[in-house]
Amino acid sequence: MKLFVATHNAHKLREISQILPTFEIVPDDPVGVVEDATDFAGNALIKVRAIASRHVGSWCMADDSGLEVAALGGAPGVKSARYAGEPSDTAANNALLLKNLAGVADRRANFTCAIALVAPDGTEHVVTGRCYGSIAAAPSGFAGFGYDPLFHPDGCHCSFAELSEAEKNAISHRGVALAEAKKIIGG
Ligand code: IMP
Repeated sequence: MKLFVATHNAHKLREISQILPTFEIVPDDPVGVVEDATDFAGNALIKVRAIASRHVGSWCMADDSGLEVAALGGAPGVKSARYAGEPSDTAANNALLLKNLAGVADRRANFTCAIALVAPDGTEHVVTGRCYGSIAAAPSGFAGFGYDPLFHPDGCHCSFAELSEAEKNAISHRGVALAEAKKIIGG
């Protein structure tokens, strides 16, 4: 069965394929949508609705995710991709995060992922996953993407970027949300 997914992010597509192996994952970018909701669930719904209109009768999925840092009042939050401004620049985002946390003792943070689904009959669902951890003083590791080199998940003495894909998927915000999504769509 086909599952249309509103992203072209290769990391996300691989993770979705691994967790939902019985589906044929078909990327479909929601070109031109404005992600202006104030939370992850709202942005995921905006993206999935944009592609669902093209695939009536099939399952469609979109995710929206980001990093929330306690000492920064939840920032970068929904602005995670463009924390340091346009265009999205991972190195600049990570540098700004370290700058804003310079001298800050409370390094607690979490990743959040909201997944929005549209069922073949048009019913909408939203599920959420979180992964708690802390922001390191310096980056480590080369795997993954985004803030991975700075994020140390609780119970792990390394960053997300030092884990294998399978190890990250087992505990990540997206892994948790996808496991919830799998309960709804099967597969
Ligand atoms: P989006 O869900 O594609 O809008 O992602 C928002 C941003 O959050 C990404 O560009 C990354 O900066 C960050 N982000 C989301 N998930 C992860 C992750 O698993 N690792 C590292 N950064 C992430």
